[in-house]
Amino acid sequence: MDLDRIAEVLAQLTKVRGRHNLASRCGTSLLELFHADAAVVWLTDVDKQPGAEDTTFVIGPLAPPASAHEIARAAASDRLERWLGSRGAALFGGAEVETPFVWGQLAVAWRHTRLLPAEVDAAMRLIAGQFSLIIDRDESGGHQDEPGGRNGRGGKRADDSQAASATSHAVNESDPYRSVFQSTADYVYAKDVFGRYTEANAAFLAALGLPLEQVVGKRDAELFPPDVASDQVARDQIVEVSGETLESECAIVLGGTARCLLMRRFPRRTAAGTTAGVIIVATDITERKQAEIERERLVHELQTTNARIEQALSEQTRLSGELQHSLSSIQSTQDQMVRAQRLRALGEMASGVAHDFNNSLTTILGMIEWLLHTSPPDLAIRSDLDTIRTAAVDAAAIVRRLQLFGRSTPEAESEQVDLAEMAQLVVNLARPRWRELAQRRGVQFEVLVEANPTPAVRVVSSEIRELLMNLVFNAIDAMPDGGKIVIRTGASHDKALISVIDQGTGIPDEVKERIFEPFFTTKGKDGAGLGLSVCWGIAERHHGTLEVHSTMGSGTTFTLVLPATQGAARSAKASEPSKPNAAAPSNPAAAATAKAGRPSAPRLRVLLVDDQPDVLESVADMLGALGHTVAVADSGESALRHFQREHFDVVLTDLGMPGMNGIELARRVRAQRPETPVALLTGWGADYEENPPEEVTRVLSKPVTMKSLQDALLRTMQEAHV
Ligand code: ADP
Repeated sequence: MDLDRIAEVLAQLTKVRGRHNLASRCGTSLLELFHADAAVVWLTDVDKQPGAEDTTFVIGPLAPPASAHEIARAAASDRLERWLGSRGAALFGGAEVETPFVWGQLAVAWRHTRLLPAEVDAAMRLIAGQFSLIIDRDESGGHQDEPGGRNGRGGKRADDSQAASATSHAVNESDPYRSVFQSTADYVYAKDVFGRYTEANAAFLAALGLPLEQVVGKRDAELFPPDVASDQVARDQIVEVSGETLESECAIVLGGTARCLLMRRFPRRTAAGTTAGVIIVATDITERKQAEIERERLVHELQTTNARIEQALSEQTRLSGELQHSLSSIQSTQDQMVRAQRLRALGEMASGVAHDFNNSLTTILGMIEWLLHTSPPDLAIRSDLDTIRTAAVDAAAIVRRLQLFGRSTPEAESEQVDLAEMAQLVVNLARPRWRELAQRRGVQFEVLVEANPTPAVRVVSSEIRELLMNLVFNAIDAMPDGGKIVIRTGASHDKALISVIDQGTGIPDEVKERIFEPFFTTKGKDGAGLGLSVCWGIAERHHGTLEVHSTMGSGTTFTLVLPATQGAARSAKASEPSKPNAAAPSNPAAAATAKAGRPSAPRLRVLLVDDQPDVLESVADMLGALGHTVAVADSGESALRHFQREHFDVVLTDLGMPGMNGIELARRVRAQRPETPVALLTGWGADYEENPPEEVTRVLSKPVTMKSLQDALLRTMQEAHV
């Protein structure tokens, strides 16, 4: 017996017209409610005399032993109540409902007496009320409001109704609560159990736009569209059945305007406590609702805007991060460029210094060589002269390294090399050095090659070898307590990499700034500070870079990055490979070669050209000491005049001279006597030695010793006559 089913019966009842439909439309449901052992009986109008069989009807099957006929008879003989009492029946009836329409009583009888829960009792009273209404409509021919359609009882009810209606108008002054009811801004109205309006306050009538007369007695279906009306009726019934208040929001059109109402329904009670309909208090919350909707819209908009702002902010953060990154990479590129520029400028300066130094060293060495050559073997200062000579030769070696740093093109032709093989070769070449150090210091070194796939490179092997040797020696120096050095090859994009990794002291930042500068060293008298500057020059000439990463206390990695397939910069000019042929009998130089350095070597007529008198003098002395006949000229022009007047076996000329330079002189000499070889003697020698300009036969680097001068002269003669 659940309330939902009762509500269902109620809903069905509202649709039933005519008493004869009652049994068929509602009986089954009611019987289901009370189980099959129940008898549901509608007892005749209480006003009617017992025996009025026509209004007494049985809704459902009667449990034995009673039968419809028996009940009818019992009712007619006024024994019904007793009969019902004997069957534990419960009576629900219009008689107890405070409405104008009391048509009878609903009786339910069971075989055994039972107690009904309060809510079922209330519901059954509602159902009884609905029965009354249906029979009332039936009695009045379905037109209860028509004055002519009423019978005597209908007339009575109409009177009651009018009386009630009149009451609602008339009590204004007499009832103090009436003014409260009328003055409230909320809509207050009431309906009876049949859903008819019984009262409505001024606010509600104003909103409806109707006078009270056109509202009282009407049902929702007559005031509102069907969907709104049925919704209202359903809610009313819930309140009537449950006896509890109900709050709901409802969208409704009042007086042509769409409104939103907050409706609170209260069950209306009679003095006896039975339900007599509903009271509704509705607050117009249209503005509040609109404000809420607007607020929600604004909140949503705000949230959307917030989300957009957050997105924009995070985008901005991302962009500024990227910008920061770009700026720092620009900064580091700029730093690198500045450093490279500074090193290039230093390189140029170093070349210039080297050139001038070579001239001075040529004079010094020349003089010493001549002195040593001409002085008696037992001369006391011979050993001092030897010391000066050694110092000058050492100085020449330093100048040569300086020139290597400042040089812009590779010294020799490039070739394809396997960097891993090169690394192994370097390990072998460096081994004696680290073995010796390890033994001396009582420490251990481990030098390994870690060969990863590496693209082929074209390089000048001697230069790359020198670079790697420098790096390995530096690594050994950085590990006074021994440790491991790894030479690792690898690739990155289209670059070949070769790294020298040590576990040494690391390089402080302020030192790292300067390590590639020539003569920068932290090793005091043990370091020349030329190793890394030479390495840098070599990397530059190969269109590569030399990168350094160092962590104090953990070690340093130098990485040479080389373009992969590009043929590493070729030499400025491919030189003809020299083909010494000492055995050729017709060649005067061949004989000279055999006797190089000896006083009995062939005497050549040498035209010596240099704008520097000191150089001219010292080299002339050396040539003289070697037994050659020397004519000197301090310029190209003067040399040419000599050349036109006399025959020379060879011309030995400085490169850079005011007016005609050495190469121009060589060209003129060739034009006149192609068979006369021309050798360049120059302070820029390191740049030209391996690849002499085509106008000259050979290039000789300043400074020269007597031996190197003699060797070079003889080779020049030899090459010229091949
Ligand atoms: P030198 O070795 O004669 O000092 P370099 O030009 O080869 O000259 O090196 C310059 C300086 O760079 C060194 O004096 C040293 O301070 C630093 N350096 C080079 N290689 C390393 C290394 N692997 N670990 C620590 N410091 C190094």
